[in-house]
Amino acid sequence: MTKLANKTAIITGAAGGIGAATARLFLEEGANVTLVDLEQKALDEVARSLESSRVLTVAADVSNPEDTDRYVEQTVSRFGRLDVLFANAGTEGCVCPMVEYRVADFDRVLSVNVRGVWLALRAAARQFQKHPGGSIIVTSSVAGLIGSPGLSAYIASKHAVLGIMKTAALELAPFGVRVNSLNPGPIENRMMRSIEAQAAPDAPELVKKGFEGKVALGRYGTNEEMARLALFLASEDSSYCTGSVFVADGGFTAA
Ligand code: NAD
Repeated sequence: MTKLANKTAIITGAAGGIGAATARLFLEEGANVTLVDLEQKALDEVARSLESSRVLTVAADVSNPEDTDRYVEQTVSRFGRLDVLFANAGTEGCVCPMVEYRVADFDRVLSVNVRGVWLALRAAARQFQKHPGGSIIVTSSVAGLIGSPGLSAYIASKHAVLGIMKTAALELAPFGVRVNSLNPGPIENRMMRSIEAQAAPDAPELVKKGFEGKVALGRYGTNEEMARLALFLASEDSSYCTGSVFVADGGFTAA
């Protein structure tokens, strides 16, 4: 039995590591999937690799309200309804101390990671209120639970989405919609490569070693491990879970 048969899911940040792996798993589990990301070319590449007719791609900037309404409307017009939103697009921004952080860079991170999630939930909620039931997952981070030097905007943004998630869970419970957050630790993909390289351009591998040393399991997570948690939250397996924070960090925040 597939876990998402006849369900329709939107995944933002779908050209990225976690988004693309989740798209693949959701398709395997029977869902129709709308892939949303900034560049059509990158979306086309992911869609080609997925080899499925149950895929729609929409190039959109998640921080833009018109783009957000468009990807939700196109999803409903192609697949008939919306059951799952994975508001996952995000940007790490700069890695530098707060005293050097530029206002424009701070605003961009907040715009994508907070406004983008809020816009997605708002647009999806309007659909969910027409057809009760559904699941929303927002991607926060261990950066939504603890501080980290050099990542002030990212840390602020990932804490903020937990507030949005909890509020949406309360507002949407009467419509049978569950809302939870997925909080990854360091994951083996582009975003960590960027953070490592920004933190120490001459020795990014030492930054990686440092992070690994703080993970109880001693390694970064994989995109597929995050996808499996997203599937749990999207499916009826998590039918009593809402308003909650689901951490998958190999023990990073246990210490
Ligand atoms: P990634 O960089 O591979 O993917 C992020 C995707 O979001 C990219 O494809 C990017 O193009 C897209 N994106 C960025 N800004 C956008 C915008 N304005 N509109 C539409 N799309 C946009 O990294 P990832 O790890 O797959 O990131 C997915 C989520 O996981 C992010 O929210 C990230 O903050 C979070 N996260 C990642 C890690 C990690 O270690 N990689 C850890 C914790 C949380």
